[in-house]
Amino acid sequence: MQAELIAVGTELLLGHTIDTDSAYASRELAASGIDVLRRFTVGDNPARLEETLRLALSRSDLVVLIGGLGPTKDDLTKEIAARVCGKQLVMHEDSRRRIEEHFRGRVCGETQWKQAMLPEGCDVLPNDHGTAPGCVFRAENGCLVALLPGPPSECEPMIRDRLMPYLHRLGGGVIASLMVRTFGIGEGTAAERAEDFLNLVNPTVAPYAKDSEMFFRVTAKASSQEEAQKECRAVADRLCERLGSYVYAVNTDGTSQSCLENTVVELLAQRGLTVSAAESCTGGLIAKRLTDVPGASAVLNMSFVTYSNEAKHRLLGVPLEILDRYGAVSEQVARAMAEGVRRFSGSSVGVGVTGIAGPDGGTPEKPVGLVYLAVSDGEHTWVRRMNAPARFQSREKIRFRAASTALDMVRRLLCGLPMEEGPV
Ligand code: ATP
Ligand code: MG
Repeated sequence: MQAELIAVGTELLLGHTIDTDSAYASRELAASGIDVLRRFTVGDNPARLEETLRLALSRSDLVVLIGGLGPTKDDLTKEIAARVCGKQLVMHEDSRRRIEEHFRGRVCGETQWKQAMLPEGCDVLPNDHGTAPGCVFRAENGCLVALLPGPPSECEPMIRDRLMPYLHRLGGGVIASLMVRTFGIGEGTAAERAEDFLNLVNPTVAPYAKDSEMFFRVTAKASSQEEAQKECRAVADRLCERLGSYVYAVNTDGTSQSCLENTVVELLAQRGLTVSAAESCTGGLIAKRLTDVPGASAVLNMSFVTYSNEAKHRLLGVPLEILDRYGAVSEQVARAMAEGVRRFSGSSVGVGVTGIAGPDGGTPEKPVGLVYLAVSDGEHTWVRRMNAPARFQSREKIRFRAASTALDMVRRLLCGLPMEEGPV
């Protein structure tokens, strides 16, 4: 199957909004073996949208239009697509009711109903996260046309949960997928290790890199859900063997968002253990990510942001001589922070992070991106040096990566895995 994507919106064309929906759609379609041959961006301009759509229809099996399904006047996608494909727009009762429920007790403008007007005979893709439904229908020449809402919070789940299963059903099967999540392995090394998996046809294995993590989406198509899940699991297991201790989770959550914190909270809870962190350059990000996870209260009793030397000394007992001799960003201070916060909090595991997140404050010996991370279980303390080249990394990225590295060290400690693995 050959597909083309058309993202509609002047804000995309002018660069005010980045077209993340098309990127997401491309990845999803590719993971299912559908070739995306071209992608377009068109402003809210009826004539140019029509021209682009006609061209795409003339040479594709599937055209996906993204954006412009909403209630406002500049939302024209549906009207143009219906006209070009020779369809009337008719009121879809279920969608109208959903909009009515959405606005229950609030003022609902007349234009809202426009969202429930859909091309006659289409298959509706219900919107689980907003009011504008998506839909799929066939143009006169047999080309499939899919219309999806623009907001990524609506578009991505609709692609994942509605459009992809729809396309698979058309092909006579159901799909199941699993996400194999890794941290600490470089993109190149991961791709090398998993090279033969990436050529599989069913299940497919699609790699994603994000925030210093590598994810592999395994997607299987089969005649039953049970069979698809079984095939997925078998390939995911083999992939895990190949990737070894870098794998921190395998789950059905399809997003390429880090969930290291979920794994850490789960591992601590299973073992009845607790953790506390003393954070300097991450400024509380580790605590924030841990407390994002429901159930964190069972495993985190306190955490510190000890930014100044004085705080490191007074609250954590980091000796002044160490701070003076080695500087705040040093292996020795990270170690003393992890041990200090563990002692002070009475937690099972202490974490210490100190580094230079930039953009200023670097020196030739201690450049921006240098972070020392320590974890201590009372018997042993492990320290790692993270060296992120400043020219590739923003302050935000350095901090996120440092927090992830610390979480991964806790995971490794809890699972008895080697600490030194991974090119941090
Ligand atoms: P709404 O009901 O919100 O009007 P819509 O389907 O009409 O949704 P648009 O009006 O085109 O979609 O865009 C809604 C929001 O989604 C805007 O904030 C826009 O910036 C964002 N958006 C639209 N298209 C994309 C895209 N391709 N990638 C990322 N964001 C997008
Ligand atoms: Mg809109």
